[in-house]
Amino acid sequence: MTSSTFRSRPIETCRFCSGALLTSVYDTVFRDPEADERLFFAIPGALCVPCRQLYVDQQLIGILGLDGARCTFAIESDRVLTAGQAGAA
Ligand SMILES: [Zn+2]
Repeated sequence: MTSSTFRSRPIETCRFCSGALLTSVYDTVFRDPEADERLFFAIPGALCVPCRQLYVDQQLIGILGLDGARCTFAIESDRVLTAGQAGAA
């Protein structure tokens, strides 16, 4: 008897619209409380396509000094040079 439990990676969903998140690497613009715009490239994150909400790891936000900043622009980066946990299907 084989019980083949198909265990795929957990798909996170958007907390606003429950849409599936597109996990990738993004080039982003953040606007901080002093209204300075700052660009960050190749930020790993998860984008909700329907409502354009970008989720970035809270720890990374802290490292980048973006507490309180708002992401105003994000586009999927075409220069994915990383490393990390790019899981080949
Ligand atoms: Zn959403």
